[in-house]
Amino acid sequence: MDREEIWDRIEQSDMILVGLGEEFDGIKRFKQQAGYGQGCECLKEEGLSWLIPAWNEYCMDQAGDGGIGIALEKLEEFLKGKNHFVVSVSTNSKIAHVGRNVMPCGSVLRKQCAAGCRDVLQDIMEDETESLKIFFRELAEGRLRREMLSTGTCPECGAPLVLNNIHAENYNENGYLNQWNLYMKWLQGTLNHRLLVLELGVGMRFPTVIRWPFEKAAFFNQKAYFYRVNENLYQLTKELAGKGCGISEDAVAWLAQL
Ligand SMILES: [Zn+2]
Repeated sequence: MDREEIWDRIEQSDMILVGLGEEFDGIKRFKQQAGYGQGCECLKEEGLSWLIPAWNEYCMDQAGDGGIGIALEKLEEFLKGKNHFVVSVSTNSKIAHVGRNVMPCGSVLRKQCAAGCRDVLQDIMEDETESLKIFFRELAEGRLRREMLSTGTCPECGAPLVLNNIHAENYNENGYLNQWNLYMKWLQGTLNHRLLVLELGVGMRFPTVIRWPFEKAAFFNQKAYFYRVNENLYQLTKELAGKGCGISEDAVAWLAQL
């Protein structure tokens, strides 16, 4: 892969649209470990699926992030001073600090009412994050101790508070909608500009969030160029022939080495 060419395209573009996929959850490195899968099963059985993104981050802390931190730093570096938007279907909370972004699947940074009261959204506190770590340390050893969870209760209805992400039973989409509206406006404004689209490690889990709309944005823009980086699902549709390039590589490693 000609990195010079990519850097040229980055430099020459007016606007950069970045999509970050499931690969940025970092699960690949530890999903084969028995403890991880069992932990996920336990959480699901107990109606605690909203903890899965936090469980992923805990396991990533233990197993190493496989270069995700470095890759995100790199991304931040080249987005600096560029008109850009980052859309992520990963829930990795590190992404929340990268440039101008929207995370439609939520993350572990905010809490919502389990029953779905729309106006209840709170930042997670540091001591809560710490006590979650202790909870996960137990879970890693096969013990699920519900009494250790203390994320508070909803001020409106008294239901427990849970993490605001797509795994929550009554996912409160207010957590990202303002940012999503800004993104939609931004996307409309890309049409007559030199747009560079970077789709990194995005699978087929939520194709309507990144894959399909990104293809559409590149298709209708005469000055667009599309890089799709994915180990397996790297092929571009034939409508984008001559306007892009599919790269069969691990997107995290690719970005880290750019
Ligand atoms: Zn409530």
